[in-house]
Amino acid sequence: MGAENLVLVINSGSSSIKYQLLDPGSGVLAASGIVERIGEDTGGIEHHADGRTIEHSGRIADHTAGLRSVFDMFAETGHDLRRAGVHAVGHRVVHGGEVFYRPTLIDDAVVAAISELSALAPLHNPANVAGIESARQLLPGVPQVAVFDTAFFHGLPAAAKTYAIDAKVAAAHGIRRYGFHGTSHEYVSGQAAALLGRDPAELNQIVFHLGNGASASAVRGGRPIDTTMGLTPLEGLVMGTRSGDLDPGIVPHLMRSAHLSIDEVDALLNRDSGIKGLSGVNDFRELQRLIDAGDEQARLAYDVYIHRLRRYLGAYLIELGGVDAITFTAGVGENSPQVRADALAGLGHFGIEVDQTRNTAKNRAARYISPDGAPIAVLVVPTNEELAIARAAAQVVAETA
Ligand code: ADP
Repeated sequence: MGAENLVLVINSGSSSIKYQLLDPGSGVLAASGIVERIGEDTGGIEHHADGRTIEHSGRIADHTAGLRSVFDMFAETGHDLRRAGVHAVGHRVVHGGEVFYRPTLIDDAVVAAISELSALAPLHNPANVAGIESARQLLPGVPQVAVFDTAFFHGLPAAAKTYAIDAKVAAAHGIRRYGFHGTSHEYVSGQAAALLGRDPAELNQIVFHLGNGASASAVRGGRPIDTTMGLTPLEGLVMGTRSGDLDPGIVPHLMRSAHLSIDEVDALLNRDSGIKGLSGVNDFRELQRLIDAGDEQARLAYDVYIHRLRRYLGAYLIELGGVDAITFTAGVGENSPQVRADALAGLGHFGIEVDQTRNTAKNRAARYISPDGAPIAVLVVPTNEELAIARAAAQVVAETA
């Protein structure tokens, strides 16, 4: 089968590249895989296609070397991308700053602008650029499209996106709330409206994207009016390894009292906090095992997680002034009935109810977990950021053809 109608979606991290080759119309996946430990002594690639998995291990010097090996594996499994080409490449880019708020056809100037935004996302944008440059080098002539995690939240109301700090300092340094996971919040709120059989324009929604990273959004008429992540993906909910909201005074306190450098504080808050910081593990399945074994720190981590989530639920109910649907998505949101039940427990007088049988049913489809006739629909909707990126990329190509 040729790959001319397929879109290659690339999510490039600092030492990894996740990819999918898929049909943007049907969503059918032709191949997928991950390159890991780029730049380390022993890297690895796992490539899935045609019902089989092929693996490669050995040193992978950089992103370009990784993608080159991936393309060899594609050729081995029947998709010679370098020869037959693909329709487009869609790149997940974390930070679009003020500049990018829609999927954008990549040229040299766009790459330079994404690079310039690295000050706002030092862990993410340079890695995204490495993926873009490698793909452009290996697939010259194929349109490449950047899809930004911040884009959906570009139009946040001023009151929701403004931090109450010196306005001149904020303006000089691009300090405002940008929001992240936008591709997922947009896709999932659209799917939720479809499940309800309603026009998104008529609906007030709250979406909880609970994965390793976690964020919530309040969506009115298809547009977000608030979200939990801010200048960076550190703000808001408690996450696998990230603290979420903190008293900002903790940062100078740590620097003065614990003599931590800025980079050490950054690493503490991003990599050694959240569920992991409190319990020692960041995976919710392990956390559950620890809780079941009577581990009190694990219990506390879980309680802090749920407490924060409910705080935002309450805030967004008020901001929206009433809500039609509350939707859970991503690794934890899709797979943990316990989290969903605890997040919404005891809220019957607000019209929020969870049906236990529906909530615990083994079912991977988009579905209701509230009882029939409940005033507020509670839903589980699997996210699919790759499909959303593939569709956005195909649309940009169609518009510029
Ligand atoms: P990412 O933010 O990396 O995209 P995902 O959305 O894939 O993350 O979510 C990953 C997290 O989902 C894991 O760390 C794990 O905590 C959680 N998870 C996955 N499966 C389950 C499950 N069956 N029960 C509870 N949590 C799960």
